[in-house]
Amino acid sequence: MKTLRTVEQLRAALNGPRRAGRSIGLVPTMGALHEGHLSLVRRARAGCDLVVVTLFVNPAQFDDSEDLAAYPRDEQQDVALSAEAGADILFAPTPGEVYPRGFATTVTVDEISAPLEGAQRGPAHFAGVATVVTKLLNMAQPDVAFLGQKDAQQVAVIRRVVRDLDIPVRIEVGETIREADGLALSSRNVRLREADRRRAPALRRGLDAVRACHAAGERDATILAAIGRAAMAELDVVPEYLELVAPDTFVPVASVGHEQVLVAVAARVGGVRLIDNDILD
Ligand code: AMP
Repeated sequence: MKTLRTVEQLRAALNGPRRAGRSIGLVPTMGALHEGHLSLVRRARAGCDLVVVTLFVNPAQFDDSEDLAAYPRDEQQDVALSAEAGADILFAPTPGEVYPRGFATTVTVDEISAPLEGAQRGPAHFAGVATVVTKLLNMAQPDVAFLGQKDAQQVAVIRRVVRDLDIPVRIEVGETIREADGLALSSRNVRLREADRRRAPALRRGLDAVRACHAAGERDATILAAIGRAAMAELDVVPEYLELVAPDTFVPVASVGHEQVLVAVAARVGGVRLIDNDILD
């Protein structure tokens, strides 16, 4: 596996294979790789001829400078893990390479960026995500980009960017990988103190309670959300939001009918912000 730092190097490495008709898979990450990321790399390995993992802690999508400063970084380990999972190229640009002096363009996605994560983290968050992912897609021009269902709203925002800007890439979404107790893997989990780590499965517990209540026949979104919050309270966790929304638009639903509904939850446990979601069919 090669580690590349500049767009020029990346293009030079990909041009030949692309012309030879080899398919390119892209797995964008912010590093501190875990099984969630690696499941996407393996999926890319299985489906594409050439696998590019990107490692870039994108300052533009952090609403909180402390969170950015505390974001875990371990490039040496990321190199070893992505090579082991089958990546051919690790693209790890500097902030200056991604945002050169004079950088002035932002991709914003209306409506879908506003609720839930957008409301909690502010409008700059998804603009930062949409801008950097658009840039990474243009830099690598992959055939397929692999994203995780854990960040469901991010997936919806990127799907919209790809559709609206006619970016020729297929999006594949990998299932959320979890710890044995249900906690969704996240690079931020390493920051959980021991007592908070024991409370962190609250998000999954809330989602499971909603699922069970729905399976028992409840259809009212307000009641289902209240059941989820109550289950989280048992672990002393109050969500920032726990909402039932349409998976493509993130518009809240009043009840669960024949369409799929996404149950999205976010909470701070100790100082660490966690998110998770589930789909009710
Ligand atoms: P991040 O490094 O947090 O920006 O995540 C990079 C990619 O990995 C995103 O597409 C995430 O949705 C995905 N990802 C993060 N955590 C998980 C997980 N637990 N399971 C599956 N995919 C994940």
